[in-house]
Amino acid sequence: AKVGGKNHSRFFEKSMSRNLMRRREIEAELRAAIQRDELSIFFQPIIDLATGRIRTFEALVRWFHPEKGELRPDEFIPVAEETGVIVTLGNWITAQAARAAVHWPEDVTLAVNLSPMQIRAPGAALGILTALRDAGLAPSRLELEVTESLFLDDNQSTANFINELSAAGIRFALDDFGTGYSSLGSIHKFPFSKIKVDRSFVSGANVGRKSEAIIRAVAEMGARLDMEIVAEGLETVDQVRAVRATGCTLGQGYYFSRAVPDYLAAMLIAQEREG
Ligand code: C2E
Ligand code: CA
Ligand code: CA
Ligand code: CA
Repeated sequence: AKVGGKNHSRFFEKSMSRNLMRRREIEAELRAAIQRDELSIFFQPIIDLATGRIRTFEALVRWFHPEKGELRPDEFIPVAEETGVIVTLGNWITAQAARAAVHWPEDVTLAVNLSPMQIRAPGAALGILTALRDAGLAPSRLELEVTESLFLDDNQSTANFINELSAAGIRFALDDFGTGYSSLGSIHKFPFSKIKVDRSFVSGANVGRKSEAIIRAVAEMGARLDMEIVAEGLETVDQVRAVRATGCTLGQGYYFSRAVPDYLAAMLIAQEREG
């Protein structure tokens, strides 16, 4: 047992330091990647389920590494958050996305994901307003997606950030709804205009009458509180039908489109507006 335990802990140490090295590596490269132009912003449409029209594009960051290939945000966003690089990266993402969005019709909005750490950084609200002003995008066309983890510790700077930007006309969406701990509390406290129901309620193993009932209840709450509900992760026509039947008004997922580069996003809009 003793030998086994020793081996186990050695193995553990080894994988820990490998993990740490990988993180350090990602951190250093991430700082350089912005300069080297390896990052780009892709856009995934959010669709009005009644009309089929594009209402919003969500900005999703992509990293095309010269050796490692395409890295998923789930791999480098957490590292960026832990190391603080997310503040620089986040401002860059907002600026880039806003520059693309000024070319869209006025009724198409831009959604940008924000990390908690980015929001708590000094000057966070000003950074966003500056990015919008530089790009020439009206604040009313920006929507910021935040997750419930933001509200875990009840932080005054978070409240100030949301209130200041709401007053400027920016809207907020609660992302990954249903996966966190404090959903109802944060809906009660903050002026969300949208709730995005997490993909796990739509696709995956435990879909069925139960998740349909949950989406229906959220859609009803949304209608009463003047919030729109987005179903995330729609991949099949059956899922789209089921979700539409619950009263949910907006949908997003591979069934409609994956995230695409800005020139394709512009083409999707043009196609839709012609037809
Ligand atoms: P999220 O905000 O929940 O974004 C939705 C994720 O689901 C995206 O993954 C999107 O490509 C994926 N997705 C969309 N439709 C479908 C579908 O039908 N099926 C499946 N299986 N997946 C679908 P992505 O781009 O890999 O991003 C992962 C997460 O990384 C995001 O989750 C978000 O939390 C974070 N992230 C991405 N871009 C940014 C960013 O610019 N800033 C920050 N702070 N976080 C970001
Ligand atoms: Ca999101
Ligand atoms: Ca989400
Ligand atoms: Ca997520």
